[in-house]
Amino acid sequence: MTAQIIDGKALSKQLRAGFRERVGRLAQHGVRPGLAVILVGDNPASRVYVGNKVKACEECGVRSLHVALPADTPEVEMLARIAQLNADPTVHGILIQLPLPAHIDVRRVLEAISVHKDVDGFHLYNVGGLVVGNTIFPPCTPYGVQLLLDTTGTEVAGKNVVVVGASNIVGKPMALMLLQREATVTICHARTRDLAQHTILADILIVAAGKPGLIVPQMVKQGAIVIDVGINRLPDNRIVGDVDFDGVKEKASWITPVPGGVGPMTVTMLIENTLRSAERSLQGTPADHYQEWEAPMLKAV
Ligand code: NAP
Repeated sequence: MTAQIIDGKALSKQLRAGFRERVGRLAQHGVRPGLAVILVGDNPASRVYVGNKVKACEECGVRSLHVALPADTPEVEMLARIAQLNADPTVHGILIQLPLPAHIDVRRVLEAISVHKDVDGFHLYNVGGLVVGNTIFPPCTPYGVQLLLDTTGTEVAGKNVVVVGASNIVGKPMALMLLQREATVTICHARTRDLAQHTILADILIVAAGKPGLIVPQMVKQGAIVIDVGINRLPDNRIVGDVDFDGVKEKASWITPVPGGVGPMTVTMLIENTLRSAERSLQGTPADHYQEWEAPMLKAV
């Protein structure tokens, strides 16, 4: 069996076309969605990520506000900047590019973002929402993976899902989102003993460990769906995921490539969350009533 490719680039393109229509509808109400991206310092990789986000905003008609702060910005100054953005009605989403310099308490700054503008979904309120199955802003990478899975037409309920990686931004929210969709979820991490013993049982295998070549064909069930979240730069400058793509594609039924799989979807879902925030702003509903107004999450198919 050679796996079918789950094309994140194509799905992103299709979703972004729909976004432009939503931006047009918002414009009829006098609202231009706005995303503020805060970058502290000049980490080259972070600059590339911020550049990609700004570009995606432009492509979809979303206003981007790039806030570049020097690496030695005191935490108190950063908190003040976030407070200004929270109060600015033209800003619907606030994103802090991670990692931050060591003198800044990441948790404290993430909690300073208004839950109404937390388009990365990292505020504890949104994390808690995910736990009870009704978050305002699903975190972008797992949200994108969920849509990629939908394109395969696979019913997630009842499937064995194995998530390799337990970070707060990918592995844990991914597991919670699929648990909410009634999958049987296993989370593996660096201390998991005999990883293969778990992965071989997966109908759906999602890998987000940041270890190139971690998943080889012997660890994959025949016909499994394999989603590779990993992004690793090899010494020869090639970008690869965590899965041995050439080997595993001969066993899987569906597989995401790297690049061109999950990567493009992450930025796309950031725009989705920003639009959702702008649309919410028209409804003017307070946060503690979010369950009543919450719209269903986007579906790819
Ligand atoms: P992270 O914070 O470093 O977390 C990695 C997770 O993988 C940890 O839970 C770690 O376990 C686990 N792990 C490490 N080695 C392992 C092993 N040998 N076996 C099993 N589990 C192992 O990384 P992250 O931020 O979640 O990102 C993971 C990967 O996804 C990276 O390559 C990153 O670049 C990529 N990524 C891609 C996108 C995208 O848009 N495509 C977005 C975000 C991240 P412990 O918890 O025990 O340490």
